[in-house]
Amino acid sequence: MPYLRDVLRDFGDGAMDLVFAPVCVSCSNPIPTTEKDRIVCRLCWVKCRTLPHPRCERCWGPVPPGQDPRPKCRTCGDWPQAVRAIRSAFLMGNEVKAIVHALKYRGWEGSAEPMAQRMAEMAFPQDVEDEARMVVPVPTSKARLRERGYNQAALLASAFARRTDRTTVPDLLARTRSTRTQTALHPDERRANVARAFSVPDGRAPELQGEHVILVDDVWTTGATALACAQTLLDAGARVVSVATFARVIPELER
Ligand SMILES: [Zn+2]
Ligand SMILES: [Zn+2]
Repeated sequence: MPYLRDVLRDFGDGAMDLVFAPVCVSCSNPIPTTEKDRIVCRLCWVKCRTLPHPRCERCWGPVPPGQDPRPKCRTCGDWPQAVRAIRSAFLMGNEVKAIVHALKYRGWEGSAEPMAQRMAEMAFPQDVEDEARMVVPVPTSKARLRERGYNQAALLASAFARRTDRTTVPDLLARTRSTRTQTALHPDERRANVARAFSVPDGRAPELQGEHVILVDDVWTTGATALACAQTLLDAGARVVSVATFARVIPELER
């Protein structure tokens, strides 16, 4: 109904909502017209949990109470020094999963804005805030790009960069081969699966020299994908890489 839509748009969002009442992608209830977000209802946003404390300053992984994660956090102790800080807006749970799923599989491109807004509100360490100017999304495969028409990480990266006054460079990382779906794999298999799966396109490495890059993805699961991307950026000349994701899977804390 393109014409009705155009006519109603002239009357503003209120008129649009009367006919195309938006429902929350998480709970499927109608979203009250008083709420600005037209994708996720306020109640579902409230149910999204942030990562629990105490957390490691570097990776935000869980740390046993009263224990100093330095110098060797259980999660990030073995990572390269040049991987600086990992931040995720929310712990994976029912509502967070529904929001991610909507962005990824249901074509709700509009979800990227409210998701990136939450990511932009996360506090990075001061040196990251001061240094990191460049935002790069985790690339998707050409096949998935054809299937969905967009890379969900690139949508998040561009909205996140705009909201944090940074520059997004969407094509600085490429997937050199399709990785199998990661979901059913053990962590070791995942690492092998993503190794050498990414590259910096020919001639683009000079843009990375000396940069502190923020890598953006929708979900951090084992970190294998993001860490493989980070290593690729570092090998090509980036000085430091930090990571921002919307959701973090911490299996022992999932509901
Ligand atoms: Zn809801
Ligand atoms: Zn850590």
